[in-house]
Amino acid sequence: MSVGNPQFTLLKAARLVDGNGGPVAEQPAVLLEGDTIKQIGTRETVQSPEGASVLEIDYGDATILPGLVDCHVHLIGIGDGRAGDELVTLPDEVLTVQAAQNVRKHLYSGVTTVRDCGAKNRTTFLLREAVEMGIVPSPRLILAGRPIAIIGGHLSYFGTTATGSTECRAAVRQLIKEGADFIKVTATGGSTRTSHPTRPSFNVDEFSAITDEAHKFGKHVCAHCTSSGGMENALEAGIDTMIHGVHKDHDGSDSYRSDISDRIAEQGVFVNPTLGQGLARILQLEDDPGRALETEDVNVMRAGIEGRMDHVARMRDAGVVMVAGSDSAWSNYPMGDFQTEIEAHVMAGMSNMEAIVSATRDSAMSCRVDDVVGTLEVGKHADILVVDGDPTRDIADLRKVSDVFLAGSKVDRHNLV
Ligand SMILES: [Zn+2]
Repeated sequence: MSVGNPQFTLLKAARLVDGNGGPVAEQPAVLLEGDTIKQIGTRETVQSPEGASVLEIDYGDATILPGLVDCHVHLIGIGDGRAGDELVTLPDEVLTVQAAQNVRKHLYSGVTTVRDCGAKNRTTFLLREAVEMGIVPSPRLILAGRPIAIIGGHLSYFGTTATGSTECRAAVRQLIKEGADFIKVTATGGSTRTSHPTRPSFNVDEFSAITDEAHKFGKHVCAHCTSSGGMENALEAGIDTMIHGVHKDHDGSDSYRSDISDRIAEQGVFVNPTLGQGLARILQLEDDPGRALETEDVNVMRAGIEGRMDHVARMRDAGVVMVAGSDSAWSNYPMGDFQTEIEAHVMAGMSNMEAIVSATRDSAMSCRVDDVVGTLEVGKHADILVVDGDPTRDIADLRKVSDVFLAGSKVDRHNLV
C-alpha cells in the first residue's frame, strides 16, 4: 500500500488549501516526517534535513489539500439501487467483503477518514480487524456498528432495537463493548418498509437515555431525522450530528421551521444534509434516459432536491454548520464518488472553499477527530490529497486525484489486491 519507506517526504505544488478556509497558499511545500506533518511553508522556506532519506515529489500545477473526511457512509452498501430491506438479506460474510472493496475505492478517490453510520450485525467491526492487520487498505474508520432503532423502525433490520430507557442504555453499552466509536440512532422512520419516515421513532425519555449514556463514555451521537418531529426530539435529547435534517410535517408536506434551525445553531449541532445522494441519482438517470422514463421522473427529483437546497441555504443563514457526508453506498450511490456530495454543497450556495471546508475541517469536527486530521497543520497526521488544477476555481478538479497520503504513506492507488 505504501511506496518505499523514506524518513521524510517533501511535497511541492502550485497551491495549498489547508482546510481552514483562509486564502490559498501559493508555491507551497509540505514536509512529512513519518506519519506527521513536520513543516508547511513555501518552496524556499521548507527544506528536508541534510543527509536524510527523502521522497521528494513536485506535482507542478496541482493543489495540496487535507485528505477528505466523509462523515456519513454505509460501508456494506452495494450502490446498485437495492433497498436496505434487500441488502440485509445477504450473508454477513458477503457484506464484509463488500465493505472491504468500498473502503479501498473511497481511499483511492481521496477520502482518508470515513464515519460509518450503520451496518448489519458485526460486519464493520470485522472489517476493522482486517484493516488493522493490514489485509485491506482503508481510510481511518469511525464506526457505529449497528444503529439503534425502535421495533420496526428504520434500520431495525441491522440487529439492534430498544424499547424504554433501560433497553436504550443497554443498547449503548453493548455497542460500546463491541467497539463502537459513536452511536447512531434513527430518530424517524426512513426507507425501511415497516417504518414511518415522517414520524418520530424514540420518545424523548428513550432518546435522552441514549445520548446521556453515550456522552458518559465520551462518545458522540448521530441521528437520522427525516421530519421536523424527529429533529425536535433529537434536539431535546442533545444529539451531536443530525443526518438529513429534513423539514417535513407528519403529513409529508414540506414546511421550513426556522425555530428548529435556530435551535440547531444554538446547540452547535452539525447537520449532514446528504444532498449528494439525490444529485448522484439524477446524474445517473440523465446519463441513461431510457431507464429514467421507465422508473423515476427526473423532473420531480430535481424539484425535490432544489427544495432541500433552499432549506439548506436558509439553515446556513441561521448559523447551522453543514458537513459533507455522502451516505454512499446506500441505494444507488456507489462509493468512490464523495465529490458529488461536495459539488451538491456548491449547488446549494456554498463557495468552493466553503464546500471544501465542509468536507475536511468541519466534517472532522463533527466526527470528533479534528485534533488529528481535517486540516493541514504542523503536528497533525499527514492525511493528504493532491489534485491537478485548482478546486477553489473549479470544484470538479477535486476529481483529478493525483496522489493520496494516509498517515504519511503514499497510497498505491493501482494496487487492486
Ligand atoms: Zn445513512
